[in-house]
Amino acid sequence: MGAATACFLARDHGLQVTVLERDLSYAQASSALSASSIRQQFSQPVNIALSLWSLQFLRRAADELAVDNDRPAIGLVEPGYLYLAATDSGAATLQASHALQRQHGADMALLTPGQLAGRFPWLHTADLQLGSLGLTGEGWFDGPALLQAFKRKAQACGARFMAAEAMGFDRQGARLQAVRCRDGSLHAADAFVLAAGAWSAPLAGQLGLALPVAPKKRDVFVFDTPAALPGCPLVIDPSGLWFRPEGRGFICGAPPRDGDPDAPPLDAIDHAQFTEQLWPALAHRVPGFEALRLRSAWAGYYEMNSFDHNGLAGALPGWDNAFTACGFSGHGMQQAPAVGSALAALVAGGKSDAPELGALSPQRLLANQPLLEANVI
Ligand SMILES: Cc1cc2nc3c(=O)[nH]c(=O)nc-3n(C[C@H](O)[C@H](O)[C@H](O)COP(=O)(O)OP(=O)(O)OC[C@H]3O[C@@H](n4cnc5c(N)ncnc54)[C@H](O)[C@@H]3O)c2cc1C
Repeated sequence: MGAATACFLARDHGLQVTVLERDLSYAQASSALSASSIRQQFSQPVNIALSLWSLQFLRRAADELAVDNDRPAIGLVEPGYLYLAATDSGAATLQASHALQRQHGADMALLTPGQLAGRFPWLHTADLQLGSLGLTGEGWFDGPALLQAFKRKAQACGARFMAAEAMGFDRQGARLQAVRCRDGSLHAADAFVLAAGAWSAPLAGQLGLALPVAPKKRDVFVFDTPAALPGCPLVIDPSGLWFRPEGRGFICGAPPRDGDPDAPPLDAIDHAQFTEQLWPALAHRVPGFEALRLRSAWAGYYEMNSFDHNGLAGALPGWDNAFTACGFSGHGMQQAPAVGSALAALVAGGKSDAPELGALSPQRLLANQPLLEANVI
C-alpha cells in the first residue's frame, strides 16, 4: 500500500515523497508473504471495482512500472477462482453474489455439479450443489515482484525509501507537521499516509484514533503431488480450505478463525492443522491429493480489520493532512494498485480514474456503519 501510493504520488502527481520503512528487507511485511491472488468474487461492490481496476493495471504492469528498459515481470496468470457450495444456503449465497458480481462487471459463471465434473474431471463433485467460477480476470501473480516494481518506479520518479521506524508525530492543531522515528530522526511533510499494514493501530493510537486492525497469522502450506489437475483455478472448498497451483506444486490454507490470537510468532506454523484438517479436506475434494508430500510452509500476518473485514482508506478523521490505507484483511495485495492510485489523487488533490475510496473511508468507524465483506478467505 505504501509503495503503491508513493509510486502514484511521485509518478502521476510529481510530488516529493519519502517512505519510512522500519525493515527494508520486508521480512515480515504481509506483501512479502502473501498468496498474491486476485478475484472479483466479493460481496461488496467497492471491492469488485477495486480488484477490476487493479487487474487491468496488473495486465499492463510491465508498461506502467517500466524503468528505462527494465520492464517488470509480475507473472500474472488468470485461471480463475472457483467457489464451491455443498448446501442449499451455500448455493443461495453463490447465486446472490453472482448477480451482484455480474452487475458490477465481473466475468463469472455458475456451474452445476455436472458442469463442474465436465470441466474439472479431477474434482469430487458428488456432494456439491453449485460452483462459481471466474472466467477471466481472476488468478494470481508475483506479489513481492509487484512490491519491488512499485518501489523501483517510485524511486525512478524521485521517491526516497529510508530505513526508519515511525514512533509518533509532531502536530499543530489538526495538522501533522512531522513524523518522529525511533532513531531520533524527524521527517517533516505537508501530508502523511499511514500504511503500516498489520501494525497500523499503534501509530493511529498516537493520533487518538482506535483502528480495529491487528496482525492475525495465516499459514500457507506448500505440497507436491503426482496428481495432474489441468486448468486448476484457486479452489475454495465448502470446508473453508483453499488451494491453488504454485510453480510445479500447490499451496493451500484455511480461512481466519474468530478468536485467532494477535501477532503470534510467524515461525509457529500449525502443522497439526495441515495433517488433521487440511489434508483430509484436500483428499476429499481431489482424490488425487491422497498422495501428496508437504514440501514447506510459511506464515504471514493478515492485517485484519475486525470491524468489517475491509480496507480503511482515505483521510483520517479529525486530521487535516493525515491519510491511511490499511486493514485490507487479506485482499490488500490485489487492491494495492487501485487504492494507491485513488489515495495518491486524494492526497495530491489531483485526478485518478481508479474507483472512489469513499466506501472505505475510516469515517465509517466513527459512524458505526460497518461495510461487511462476507467473502474473506
Ligand atoms: C498468508 C497471506 C496470504 C495472503 N493472500 C492474499 C491474496 O491472495 N490476495 C491478496 O490480495 N492479499 C493477500 N494477502 C493480504 C495482503 O498480503 C495484504 O493485504 C497486503 O500485503 C497489505 O499490504 P500493506 O502494505 O498494508 O502491509 P505490509 O505489506 O505489511 O506493509 C506494511 C509495512 O509497514 C512497515 N511498518 C510497520 N510499522 C512501521 C513503523 N512504525 N514504521 C515504519 N514502518 C513500519 C512494515 O515493516 C511493513 O513493511 C495475504 C496475506 C497473507 C499474510
